[in-house]
Amino acid sequence: MQQQPSPTPGTNPGTSIAQKYGLQRSPLWPGVEKAALAKYLKCTTCAGDQTLQVHHIMPFHLCHLVYRGDLELDERNFIPLCEESGNNHHLLLGHLGSFESYNQGGRESILTLGKSIPGLSEEAIKADKAWIQLMGSRPKPWEQWSHAEKLAFRQILDTTLPFIPTAKASAPYPFLDDGTPNPQAVTTTYH
Ligand SMILES: [Zn+2]
Repeated sequence: MQQQPSPTPGTNPGTSIAQKYGLQRSPLWPGVEKAALAKYLKCTTCAGDQTLQVHHIMPFHLCHLVYRGDLELDERNFIPLCEESGNNHHLLLGHLGSFESYNQGGRESILTLGKSIPGLSEEAIKADKAWIQLMGSRPKPWEQWSHAEKLAFRQILDTTLPFIPTAKASAPYPFLDDGTPNPQAVTTTYH
């Protein structure tokens, strides 16, 4: 069964996060999300086809904050996860329990957890040793990052998910490495 995207303003976790950081989501996102959901159809971990979400492996708000907002729309950064009540795989496996954070192990870690945790209920996930370890060392919220950590994050993005010149989004701003804000940049790459 095909899922409909559910970006209800104020209720979708992505919308809330964007609001918190004063970010504007791409006007292209609803279309990109709809196309992705039509293609994926099932949760990567439990194969459930209800309450499906397009998870951003590298959270889109963090990408925007280091001027790589193109990754909000980039399929390389997507993995479908469900938000079933009681076993919210988007929140638990993609974000390790906090939408401010994320699973740094990315696609591979999400797939490994999905295969190794029996039943994939919230209770089973939260009792899993590997999950507990990942959760304990999950990234801090953005406002606690040092400039060096922000710079390192941008470098990881540029290395693992380099900007595609044909992308729907415009080219990213440089992220200045001396700690000063980029005078050209606003808190989104949609400019
Ligand atoms: Zn699921």
